[in-house]
Amino acid sequence: MADSKQLYQEVILDHNRKPRNWGVLADATHRAEGHNPLCGDRLTLYAKLDGDTISDLRFEGTGCAISKASASLLTDALKGKSKTEVKALFDKVHEMVISGKASDPGLGKLAAFAGVHKFPARVKCAILPWHALMAAVEGRGAPVSTESEDN
Ligand code: ZN
Repeated sequence: MADSKQLYQEVILDHNRKPRNWGVLADATHRAEGHNPLCGDRLTLYAKLDGDTISDLRFEGTGCAISKASASLLTDALKGKSKTEVKALFDKVHEMVISGKASDPGLGKLAAFAGVHKFPARVKCAILPWHALMAAVEGRGAPVSTESEDN
């Protein structure tokens, strides 16, 4: 039986109440919008890349607690990481929110989203900021939707 307490972990509630790295990044070199029409989440990710490394990361927009907390934790976790590290972590998070397995120590606080796998509609909320970030760092300009076919 899916219990909402497994979904709304304390770290998720905290990041929803006090999103880290919130707002426009004036000197962003990359940006992308993510939209989840099923929930109404609409977030913009701003990244500043220094060569291959993310030196700064911010976001803003509107969304549910899960999408906002996911974006907030993502921006905290990925500053200073290379594009290769970002892609590797994206793959781990994607796997985790589908399988519910958070055994990889590299996930850190992101492991709080493992409970999302019991709530299929919420998986898209959790992964939306990640799709937007990947689009941003890969230089894809078009907004990302969780309902497009390559997701
Ligand atoms: Zn949502």
